[in-house]
This record gives sequence, C-alpha cells and structure tokens, in this order.
Amino acid sequence: MPSDYYNVLGVSEDASEKEIKKAYRKKAMEYHPDRNPDDPEAEKKFKEASEAYEVLSDPEKRQRYDQFGHAGLGNDRGAGRGRGGQGFRDVEDIFDAFNEIFGGGRGGGRGRRRSRSDRGRGRPGSDLRVSLALTLEEIAEGTEKNLKLQKYLECESCDGTGAEGGMGGQNFSMCPQCDGTGEIRQVSRSVFGQMVNVQPCPRCEGEGRIIDNLCADCGGEGRVQGEETISINVPPGVMEGNYLTLSEAGNAGLRGGPAGDLRIEIEETPHEHFERDGLDIYYDLHLSFPEAALGTEVDVPTLDGRARLEVEPGAQAGKILRMRGRGLPDLEGSGQGDQMIRVHVWTPQDLTPKEQELLEELRDHDHFQPHPDREETETSFFRRVTDVFTS
Ligand SMILES: [Zn+2]
Ligand SMILES: [Zn+2]
Repeated sequence: MPSDYYNVLGVSEDASEKEIKKAYRKKAMEYHPDRNPDDPEAEKKFKEASEAYEVLSDPEKRQRYDQFGHAGLGNDRGAGRGRGGQGFRDVEDIFDAFNEIFGGGRGGGRGRRRSRSDRGRGRPGSDLRVSLALTLEEIAEGTEKNLKLQKYLECESCDGTGAEGGMGGQNFSMCPQCDGTGEIRQVSRSVFGQMVNVQPCPRCEGEGRIIDNLCADCGGEGRVQGEETISINVPPGVMEGNYLTLSEAGNAGLRGGPAGDLRIEIEETPHEHFERDGLDIYYDLHLSFPEAALGTEVDVPTLDGRARLEVEPGAQAGKILRMRGRGLPDLEGSGQGDQMIRVHVWTPQDLTPKEQELLEELRDHDHFQPHPDREETETSFFRRVTDVFTS
C-alpha cells in the first residue's frame, strides 16, 4: 500500500501549492542522494517525496488523488512501463522535478545520467567552476542568467568517439596489447604469496580498443574546445558562497567519457547603499544636526525603489529604525528580512564666526544638555517613524 502523499510531505490536506513546494524542497534537500551516498533508505524517502510532489503539485492529479486515492492515478502513471501501481518514473525524471525547483538547466545528480555500462569507454571530463555575480536586487527577486562557458564540447564530427566517421564507421580494432580487456595483469611472488597487480592498459588507456583512423577535427580526443551558453534560474534569497551543481555540464569527456559537472558559485556584488546581514539589509541615513533636532522627511532607497520616511523631531544618532519586510527573502521560503536604517547625525565642521556664535549661544541652554537615560524620547521616535514609511 503506497503511503499517503500528504503524510509523506508532512502537510495538511488543504495545504497550498506554496506549502507543498516548500515541504518537498525540505525533504528533497534532506534525502537527496548527493547528500546520502549509498543510503538506500534515504533514496527510498527521496523517491517517495518526489512522487508525492509530482502528484500534489499538479492541480489535476491532486484533485483525482483527493477524490479516488492512489487508484485515481493509475491511468496516466506507470502505464506501459510495466511497473504497475508503483509506477514512478526513472530516477532521471525525479531529478528533473528536483531541478524544476532549484532551477538547474540540465542534468541531475552527479553521474546518474549515464549508467556504468555506457561509461565503459572514454575518460570523464573535468569539473568546471564558475562564479556568478549577483546584485542584491537580483537576489531579492530571483533571476534568470545566461552563462557563457569556455569548455570542451563533444566533437560533432565523430560523435565524441574520436574516430573518423563516428558511430556509423567501423574504425576500431581490438587492442592487441590487452586483447580488448583494457587491463594488464602482472603476477609477482612475494612473502605473502602470489600477487596479481592489475593496471589499465597503457596502449589503449584502458579502453580495450584502439582507433584506426583518428577524427580529423578533434585528433582522436572526441572533444573540441568551444563555447556554450547555458541559462539558469536563480531562486530568490541566495547568498555569497551558495552554489548550484549541474551534473555533466562541465567539460566533455575524452572519447565519449561522461562530462564533468559544472559548479556555479554565487557571488554578491557590493551594493552602493546597502550592507547585508543575513536576511536584513542596513542603510546609513545621515542627518544634519538641525534635521535631527527639528524632524524632517527623507527619501531612502529600498531594494525595489524608494520609500519616504518621516523622521520625528529629536532623532538620536546611533538609533536603528526597522522597515519590516523590506529585506531579503529566505531561500527556503520561510520569511523575509527587514531593512534597517542606521541614523547618523552630522556634526558641522569649519564653522564661520557667525555660526560659532550661534552655537555657543545654544550650548548652555537646558535642552542641549545630553540626557541619554531618558528612554521615552527614543522609543517614540522609533515607533512613529517605523509606522509612517510608504513605498
Ligand atoms: Zn589495451
Ligand atoms: Zn572528432
């Protein structure tokens, strides 16, 4: 009996699409095979969560499921694949669903696209690393980016085989040195008895076959230097150091070997106005002394435009105002940071004799004596200002 999909994701039956997506993302992160290598229990949970998500994220399937249970899904699932009621798709499809959420343009988990048997020949390509610089605005909204990559691409003339004519041609001979096994065995005797040492064959580099006519375009490598543009969706809320791995989007392998992975690392471009602290952003507001004392209205930048702040008379330097919800979204979709306004009061320098005279006159007035212990002034300043901002 398959598990109840709502239970699998740990959501209620009236969960919104967003809640379902969030719950799935959590499970998928937890049980992702990349994080749990060789753990069949985790893999099972990952598949279950993916299956539940596939159904509950599709309004039509979800409705049928709500109405008829698992029986309602029988028709378009698993049919023709000979897997009966279980019927979930290939691991590849699961990774596609996974990538829909994380925005990977291609590929799934490392190395899973190609089975071991495909990989018998050719050496794997190396991994690629690129950094992707994003502004805070892009991070706030999420963005789609095109990345131009200089990398090894599979040679088209020979289908990556390295042999003239490619797949269609008869261009390979069995390696005479290893008789096609790709291995050289050396037997030696030692105090422990007979030892067998197995090494890849140096003649065919372990491939078991040699190419008769090398492809003219790639010189037998099966790959050429080139350029590829890939597009990736960056979800909102990423931060410096986050990365996204696209499997087999790295350098093409030698002679049909699997491509390496592409790792895209997020870099944050310093912002002209804001400093980031987790989900919050900080803005330094500089007021003149009369503005701070008399109150004023100021325009401050926000991540999506500008906001007007009414500063009450008596603003103190060093105070921080909080504009709720104007920071960055959480990557997991749970909440939003704030924009903090740090108040600075500018002390005038280079006074004219007249200005000096005026200030000296004010200096001894009662209201100009600091009294940092009087909390009320600060509190009311805070509350009033926070309430009046508009976008
Ligand atoms: Zn050989
Ligand atoms: Zn070629």
